[in-house]
Amino acid sequence: MDSNISLISSNIQKKFPFFGINKIREITRLVFEISKRDNINSNNVINSIQEKSYEKVKESLLQKRYPKTYSIAKKENFYLPDINLTDEQARLVSGKFNPKNIYYTKEVINSFLYNRIKTLYANANFIEIESLKSFLKKEKFSISKYNKRRENLFLVNEKYDFFKPCPCTKNVKCCNYSILNIGYGCLYECSYCFLQGYQNVAGIILPCNLPDFLNREKIKPTANKMFFLPRVGSGEFTDSLIFDDITLFSNDIVKFFKENKEISFEFKTKSTNIDNLLKLGGSENIVVSWSVNAEQMIKENEYCTPTLKERLTAAQKCVEAGYSVGFHFDPVILYEDWKAGYKKTIENIFDFIDGKYIKWISVGSLRMVASLKKVIENRFLNNKILDEELLLSHDNKLRYDDNTRINIYKYLVDSIREQDSSVVVYLCMENANIWNNVYK
Ligand code: SF4
Ligand code: SF4
Repeated sequence: MDSNISLISSNIQKKFPFFGINKIREITRLVFEISKRDNINSNNVINSIQEKSYEKVKESLLQKRYPKTYSIAKKENFYLPDINLTDEQARLVSGKFNPKNIYYTKEVINSFLYNRIKTLYANANFIEIESLKSFLKKEKFSISKYNKRRENLFLVNEKYDFFKPCPCTKNVKCCNYSILNIGYGCLYECSYCFLQGYQNVAGIILPCNLPDFLNREKIKPTANKMFFLPRVGSGEFTDSLIFDDITLFSNDIVKFFKENKEISFEFKTKSTNIDNLLKLGGSENIVVSWSVNAEQMIKENEYCTPTLKERLTAAQKCVEAGYSVGFHFDPVILYEDWKAGYKKTIENIFDFIDGKYIKWISVGSLRMVASLKKVIENRFLNNKILDEELLLSHDNKLRYDDNTRINIYKYLVDSIREQDSSVVVYLCMENANIWNNVYK
């Protein structure tokens, strides 16, 4: 792959001296993406261009870059931002969380979590801060600092955002999910993770006042007829269980939802950090769910995470301890053998778990806010997920075209139905048209 963008750009400029700077940028983007995807030298792509005018050059490159969707997409669906490759590659570090610096606000010092952290990380630097907001004002964040999040832990009291409806996206069929916010930041390195483009703090944030917040006045999820109970879950801004051996949040959460069986609570995770859950013992309304993927996609994109087998073994143990379980095929990623890969994962799930314990399986295809594309290509230069044809949609998100998504969903839903015809399978972040086509 040619990653010398200024060289690609200057070779294009030599061939097309009359193109202005913006046109050169767009053509550079297309040449870079074609040469990366096809694993060929960028000069081969440039030399193969026969056209002369900018419009014709762009058209011919778009056809090469988007062979499946060029004829159905509109001009505005092609997202061609400039390229600024830096050397900010993701640091793929596994292992225990061992922060060097622990920042805390005064109000947390009597909390259980602060005192537990004091004992667990007695050798760390404990630094009092006035507030997270004031700290972040002084310590300007840049994406290079995202790699340092293992070094810093912030202990604060969460004031506003503990419980809220899942933000979902515009014009889709919402499943009425609600979120319990139990932290911010994750130690895994999934190439597609939205946090790397969203997070503005070089550390992990944990709320010390979660127990104060767990009360029925504040936890009011909405019912949805697809599900057996109204649903709340953690795992939007962090993995639900990755820090559970440190926080022991599951103590409070399991206790609360065992006393409130009219609500279902979901721990959504890729981890195998279930020891505390096993000690506590489960309840049918408490669902431990795993994000799963085709094994090749786990290997190529979900760095530092447990294998599929490890996740399914953990799910099996949770069932034995009395919990319900769930699975999320999210994101489903297109690759050459995607059908075989996803079918195998579905078969594996049902080899490990009897369908009667599975409360739901969701399916969502790869999607991302447009700005994440540049973050991914910087942090995971050799990624393959951006080589596919991702088009810009109405909500400024990149996703596969409608027909491709329908095919993906039909295939996965049918493959799940072959194993168990009664398990609830729903689509995440999809519009009514896609739903109707998949479930007709
Ligand atoms: S469909 Fe997905 S994104 Fe939308 S509310 Fe449900 S879980 Fe959240
Ligand atoms: S597990 Fe989830 S939160 Fe953690 S890096 Fe992967 S996608 Fe991001």
